[in-house]
Amino acid sequence: MANTTRCLTIDDFEIGRPLGKGKFGSVYLARLKENHFIVALKILFKSQIEKEGLEHQLRREIEIQAHLQEEPDHLHPSSRHHNILRLYNYFHDTRRVYLILEYAPRGELYKELQKSCTLDEQRTATIMEELADALTYCHQQKVIHRDIKPENLLLGLRGEVKIADFGWSVHTPSLRRRTMCGTLDYLPPEMIEGRTYDEKVDLWCIGVLCYELLMGSPPFESASHSETYRRILKVDVRFPSSMPPGAQDLISKLLRYQPSERLPLAQILTHPWVQAHSRRVLPPSAQMVS
Ligand code: ATP
Ligand code: MG
Repeated sequence: MANTTRCLTIDDFEIGRPLGKGKFGSVYLARLKENHFIVALKILFKSQIEKEGLEHQLRREIEIQAHLQEEPDHLHPSSRHHNILRLYNYFHDTRRVYLILEYAPRGELYKELQKSCTLDEQRTATIMEELADALTYCHQQKVIHRDIKPENLLLGLRGEVKIADFGWSVHTPSLRRRTMCGTLDYLPPEMIEGRTYDEKVDLWCIGVLCYELLMGSPPFESASHSETYRRILKVDVRFPSSMPPGAQDLISKLLRYQPSERLPLAQILTHPWVQAHSRRVLPPSAQMVS
């Protein structure tokens, strides 16, 4: 698939069932005619993107995702990270932009959570290990995701997490950025307050995620936006008695007002609760590169 050097067009694909609809277009299951390779084809309308003035953001999303797929020889062969959704290629015609994405057969984590209301310790710890590992890779590449939440996490064949949607992520050159974005429940204090922020925003977000997966709702959920903001800024987290103590320890080390006090990704990987419950499975290719 990735070896395709000539320009692709829509005629190279057989289009299957719709996988979902986004703000600017739709995603279809598709198959490359040439070799029957299965992909998810995301089709965006240029007119809608231009109307919203989002050409810049889309270009950035593509560049960032393409950057994360590069295989420069100074990098580890696993630089195509197993827990980051692959962008194989892209092309456009007069009216549309097409993104050729890795197909995530088990859909969104959000839907799994809706169906089962809460996830168990094993499933949650596995997801935390996968995310900590994938974000280590992103941060090494100077990419901050900024928008980790169940809607942006897709699932592979064996239920492994695939980080998608780099639409809001920032490719940090040297300067820190200030932009307001993301979903309310997952917003870290420094973004609410419009302060400069860094990759530690992702630590906050996975703390919120860990809580939501285990409890079924995010920690600062409130009746009004202003109340949610207020609770986030006070770091007003309440742990129900059903919260496993090990998970509570991890979450309270991630949900810290001061970004510098949040538990680093490497220590999430070695956290006793993660170690005790994670059942992460690596694909054969990733196992080979140790
Ligand atoms: P936006 O990205 O515009 O904020 P969105 O995330 O809802 O909105 P898309 O990313 O376009 O929209 O995806 C629409 C839906 O299609 C998703 O909710 C998801 O269920 C499905 N989908 C997207 N990409 C894939 C994929 N690679 N594999 C399987 N399903 C996918
Ligand atoms: Mg999306």
